[in-house]
Amino acid sequence: MPVYHDEIIISTSKRFELIDITDRVEEIVEKSGIRNGICLVFAPHATAAIVANEHEWGLLQDILNRIKELFPPDKGWLHNRIDDNAHAHVGSAIIGADRVFPVINGRLVRGTWQNIFVVEMDGPRSRRRIIVTVIGE
Ligand code: ZN
Repeated sequence: MPVYHDEIIISTSKRFELIDITDRVEEIVEKSGIRNGICLVFAPHATAAIVANEHEWGLLQDILNRIKELFPPDKGWLHNRIDDNAHAHVGSAIIGADRVFPVINGRLVRGTWQNIFVVEMDGPRSRRRIIVTVIGE
């Protein structure tokens, strides 16, 4: 069964940020030539996550504000004895560093209000790598 790998490189400019990578993921699905299967979007990072939701300015602030409330940087995390980013590790562990989408008839399937975002929680970073793997036929 054909397997196609590609990657998306982004940079982030804030400590907490949502970066829309939908177009780039869809380009990779198209390039893969795979018509039916699945598409894995995976962030090989312990302090970032992947989510799918609506790209609406207010909602993006709502999501970021909730993430900051759930995973506040200054909570007295134990990992901060050796690093200053425990909140981002915990956020990545709980939100998840990957999402999987169906690929049907050559197109990545997502809801109208489901864009794909990288959740930066320990930025700014000059280089965040997102692996996209398309498997199918
Ligand atoms: Zn750390």
